[in-house]
Amino acid sequence: MNTLRFYNTLTKKIDDFVPNVEGKVSLYTCGPTVYHFAHIGNLRSYIMEDILDRSLRYAGYDVKRVMNITDVGHLSSDADTGNDKMVEGAKREHKTVMEIAKFYTDAFFSDCEKLNIRIPDVVEPATNCISEFINMIEVLLEKGYAYIAGENVYFDTSKLDKYYTLSNQNEEELMIGVRDDVDEDTNKKNKADFVLWFTKSKFEDQELKWDSPWGKGYPGWHIECSCISMKHLGEYLDIHCGGVDNIFPHHTNEIAQSESFTGHKWCNYWFHVNHLNVRGGKMSKSKGDILTVSVLQEQGYNPLVYRMFCLQSHYRKPLEFSYEILDNMKIAYDKLKKSTLRIKAEGDSSAVDTKAFDEYKAKFMDALSNDLNTSSAITVLYEMLKADINNATKLALIEDFDQVLCLDLLKEEESAACAVDSELENYILERIEARKEAKKNKDFATADSIREELASKGITIKDTREGTVWTME
Ligand code: AMP
Ligand code: ZN
Repeated sequence: MNTLRFYNTLTKKIDDFVPNVEGKVSLYTCGPTVYHFAHIGNLRSYIMEDILDRSLRYAGYDVKRVMNITDVGHLSSDADTGNDKMVEGAKREHKTVMEIAKFYTDAFFSDCEKLNIRIPDVVEPATNCISEFINMIEVLLEKGYAYIAGENVYFDTSKLDKYYTLSNQNEEELMIGVRDDVDEDTNKKNKADFVLWFTKSKFEDQELKWDSPWGKGYPGWHIECSCISMKHLGEYLDIHCGGVDNIFPHHTNEIAQSESFTGHKWCNYWFHVNHLNVRGGKMSKSKGDILTVSVLQEQGYNPLVYRMFCLQSHYRKPLEFSYEILDNMKIAYDKLKKSTLRIKAEGDSSAVDTKAFDEYKAKFMDALSNDLNTSSAITVLYEMLKADINNATKLALIEDFDQVLCLDLLKEEESAACAVDSELENYILERIEARKEAKKNKDFATADSIREELASKGITIKDTREGTVWTME
């Protein structure tokens, strides 16, 4: 078994991964809130979590991965204020909450499929687990970690000495976010307290409500991940994943509930993916200004180009999205695929050189073990493709590496975007560049003639805030 090392938000350092049970991994991922399409920022998190999942399997672990689907309780502010996102989605589209949930859950998994993100072993919608939530809240009340105020049930954060351990910020800093919320909840004893169960709420139009010992109501957002994780993975969790925005308050609250409930440490490793940003700011569903996989496809990009875009940068660094980088990635991806498919087409009946195979496999594993350094792993692939080893060995290694990279390196049927000849693509990009230059020099006649020239070849160009994009008939 190879040892993986990755950054643990809990210990604030890169740790050797040692599971609770030898050879087995319990892995939990916060799933999407299904009131809108996932944007490519959300999907950056899911791609990199997929890499973690696949790297663990590649290293030889038997992984059980669980993901929730948030279809109730997530308010527009993570600190329990604002409107329920699902209710907002339903109103926006004149549908029921459950219709919205089904539609966007299906859309999410269709995006995952396009991006070669493995579907977790268990996917559980929050609305399936109401009795589990009620049970955990009852225990928290019995143990004195929760209280009822204004007919809602709250978690009492003052009962814990180490409430802020995960976020490693001081209380003052963290409270800024909570304080900024417009409508502060006066029922809370402490500002960081959070809702476990809403009964009496300002949301008269809340569509989904369930009976509970505290009256008809619905769960808060944080309780769902603690319960769904424990339902399927037990009281000792190896790894919990999410985007960095989940560290506080969501994951901090999950730890508070889970450890107060069980009376012992819950999860050993916390894995967080940094944000995809656009023009310096986080891409976010609530801002409405989002890019989806379908939009990229409409613009002629193979979704796996976006997967490669994510793999070429480190998951712990913020990543700035730009069409310019995506275009370069498209060229790189097409070239890479051409060379892997050429090796496949040429074939080789000689035996695999096991020494070379083991050597490159070890290098590839090293890159992944080094805090999931996917761009180094891709460099190992490039080095191997250039190396003086036979095609049979190269082919075996491409297949092996693609278990983690999942770039479909040996898949023949190419998407329309992938099939575009790279010479033609270089020509288009060169003309777009020339048009940009002409526009810069206020030579609009030349700029227009370039557009017409491309149009005559069936190539449509569109100027977006992120740059010029093109599509081909
Ligand atoms: P949500 O559907 O809003 O609950 O978010 C789903 C996942 O996407 C969570 O793990 C978030 O932390 C993550 N996420 C949200 N925005 C971004 C972003 N701009 N870049 C990367 N991950 C994000
Ligand atoms: Zn969660």
